[in-house]
Amino acid sequence: MLSNIRFTLVETSHPGNIGGVARAMKCMGLHSLALVAPKVFPDPDAVSRAAGAEDLLTGAYVFSDIKQAIADCVFVVGTTARPRAIEWPVLTPGIAAGRILAESRNGPVAVLFGRERSGLTNKEVERCNLLVRIPTTEDYASLNLACAAQILAYELYLRSGLPNPADPPGQAQADSASMDQFHRHLEQALHDLNFIKVDPPTKLMRKLTRFFNRAQPSQEELNIFRGILSAAQAAARRDKKGS
Ligand code: SAH
Repeated sequence: MLSNIRFTLVETSHPGNIGGVARAMKCMGLHSLALVAPKVFPDPDAVSRAAGAEDLLTGAYVFSDIKQAIADCVFVVGTTARPRAIEWPVLTPGIAAGRILAESRNGPVAVLFGRERSGLTNKEVERCNLLVRIPTTEDYASLNLACAAQILAYELYLRSGLPNPADPPGQAQADSASMDQFHRHLEQALHDLNFIKVDPPTKLMRKLTRFFNRAQPSQEELNIFRGILSAAQAAARRDKKGS
């Protein structure tokens, strides 16, 4: 879905900002960059700010007007620092990202970023299906173009279903049958350890089930837990024999 999302920069003045946007995009798995009548492009400043994202610059589509740039898009989103006189739906980046991803299933989606000085014109805004505004203090709402692009790219990445670095790498999630076996094992172990004194211990087991479902353990983590339960059961058996 990210491949259908095209960040489209309108009449950017500073080539360094184009490089900054390319870098912001690449880190977040976005690769489609379009430039509408850039003041200076290509330019060494763009390359130096892109750092490792030069491939996005060489692959950028360059258009002479916005109409051509969005002609094939099924959905157009405008980003704007200031509230507009005309009433247009304005969302925060996270909510907008969900909508953009959903629309990108149907075809290319353009996310427009305006000129450094004056943003998008009202005519350009009128081409948009919705607007996104990054919440800021009232005093100063205007982020640097590449910083605004970074926030949008990040929110898209978070919701795109790409691997989340917070997930343990390469571990298969425990399936429902394994979770069932685990819960049965846990209940039996709690009996063996004399932790459960009422029968049936419905409420307690439901709370423990809720806890383990929330944790979404991997198969490996579940095996470790089952090993701990078996060791505790064996110790309890030894205790009983000894007494
Ligand atoms: N004075 C301009 C600011 C231009 S900043 C304006 O009123 O819009 C250049 C571009 O960065 C903007 O056109 C927009 O695409 C993006 N941008 C900057 N700050 C933003 C914010 N708070 N929310 C959404 N986009 C923003």
